Amino acid sequence: MKIDCSTSLYGVLGYPLSHSLSPEMQNAGFRASGYNGVYLAFESKDLEGCIQGIRALDIKGLSITIPYKECILPFLDEVDDVAQKIGAVNTLVNRKGRLVGYNTDAIGAIRALEQQLTLPGKDCLIIGAGGAARAIGFALKERGVRLRITNRNETRGERLASGLDCDFSPLSDMGRIQADLVVQATSVGMYPNLEKPPISPKALEKGTVVMDIIYNPLETRLLAGARERGCITISGVEMFLHQGAEQFELWTDLKAPLEVMRDAVLSALEQRRHENR
Ligand code: NAP
Repeated sequence: MKIDCSTSLYGVLGYPLSHSLSPEMQNAGFRASGYNGVYLAFESKDLEGCIQGIRALDIKGLSITIPYKECILPFLDEVDDVAQKIGAVNTLVNRKGRLVGYNTDAIGAIRALEQQLTLPGKDCLIIGAGGAARAIGFALKERGVRLRITNRNETRGERLASGLDCDFSPLSDMGRIQADLVVQATSVGMYPNLEKPPISPKALEKGTVVMDIIYNPLETRLLAGARERGCITISGVEMFLHQGAEQFELWTDLKAPLEVMRDAVLSALEQRRHENR
C-alpha cells in the first residue's frame, strides 16, 4: 500500500471498536482498486471533538457505529432521505468540507437478502427493534415486504411496528413461525456471548430464508439450528459486506471489489477465531 501526501484518510468512528472488521475490509478494497486511501479505527468518546477533527484534518469519509449512529445527525450539514427516514447514519462522506450522512445498513441487508429470494410480496418476521431492525424494516417495507416485529422489550417493539405500520407479536408467541423470511436483528449470539437465540430454531419451517445480522461467529446458534431444519441461511457477513461495499462506492466513486472484500472479512474472522482459542 502506497502512502504519500495525496493519501485520503477514512475510518470507523465509535466505541468500543476492537470487534470491527471494517479496517481489514476497506483497506483490502482500496488496495485491490489501486485507490490511494487508508482506513483506520477511531475509537473516541468525544463526538463533537471528532467532528472538528474530521473538518480540520480533511478526513474524507467515516463509517459511523455504536453509539453514534443516531446522535451524529445534528452535527452533519446534510442527511440523505433514506438516513433521515430511518433516523440513523452509518456513513459520513466529506464533500469538500460538507459532511453528508447516509445509511448503507438498509441497502446492505437488501443486497444480502436478494441473493436468496425475490422480496416483493413476501412475509417477513424481524426479531429486534433497535437501530438495525429499524433500518432493515424500513428498506423491506419499501420493497413491498409484509412485516411483523417481535422484540424482548414489547413497548419498544410495538413502537417500531407502529412506525412501520405493521403487526407486533411478543416473543412468547413465537411457537411456530410462518414466514418466507426471518431476520434476526438483535445483538444476541454475538461473540463472546454465544447465548441462546431469542427464538428457538424449532419454531422455523423448512425452506424459510433466515438471516442473522450477527457476523461473529460466522454461523450463530440460530443459523446452525435453522440449517439443521432445512432453512436457507444467510450470515451477517453478507449484510456487513454489502453495507461496506456501498460505503466504498460513496467514498471512491469506484465499483467495490466485492470478492476481495469478502475474502478479507472472512480471513479476519478466521484469524480472530484462532486468537480467541
Ligand atoms: P441496538 O439498537 O442496541 O438494538 C439491540 C437489539 O437487541 C434490541 O432489539 C434489543 O432488545 C435486543 N437485545 C439485546 N440483548 C438482548 C437479549 N439478551 N435478549 C433479547 N433481545 C436482546 O443495536 P443495533 O444497532 O440494532 O444492532 C444490533 C446488532 O446488529 C449488533 O450486534 C450489531 O453489531 C449488529 N449489526 C450488524 C450489521 C451487519 O452489517 N451485519 C449492521 C448493523 C448492526 P430490547 O429492545 O428488548 O433491549
